[in-house]
Amino acid sequence: MEDIKSLVDYGGYIVREVQRHEATKQLDIYLEMQTSTVKCTECKKEVKYDRSVRDLPIGEYIIVRLHYTVKIFECSNCKSRHTERLSLVSSGQFATERFKLYIGKLATMIAPSQLAEEFSLDDNTVYRYENYFLKKNSHK
Ligand SMILES: [Zn+2]
Repeated sequence: MEDIKSLVDYGGYIVREVQRHEATKQLDIYLEMQTSTVKCTECKKEVKYDRSVRDLPIGEYIIVRLHYTVKIFECSNCKSRHTERLSLVSSGQFATERFKLYIGKLATMIAPSQLAEEFSLDDNTVYRYENYFLKKNSHK
């Protein structure tokens, strides 16, 4: 039987720790890059910052947050400036691409205010994701 963890794609990152909050049906998933993506052995100078983003619900857990570290490498040897970050998230976003599209699609079928309540989002966020979903689909 396939490990359930491998059913969810975390874009090269692996699950280091999961914290369950039964009362709020919340999951905090801590991710870690499996292998570093540096280009050479001198690529060490790094800036790090921690991020968290919303991701798809898993089972009864409606609020799923992914926690990970963004690393920026500035190398004096190979002259590269390279950012290691979760590929599932566009820069500056607070949710994964798949979460935005999931909520956006639901918003075309369910009242946005109801969705907002169910997923602990604000109404404006739901409207933004709906527009995003509609825009994406009109190009297909
Ligand atoms: Zn380098």
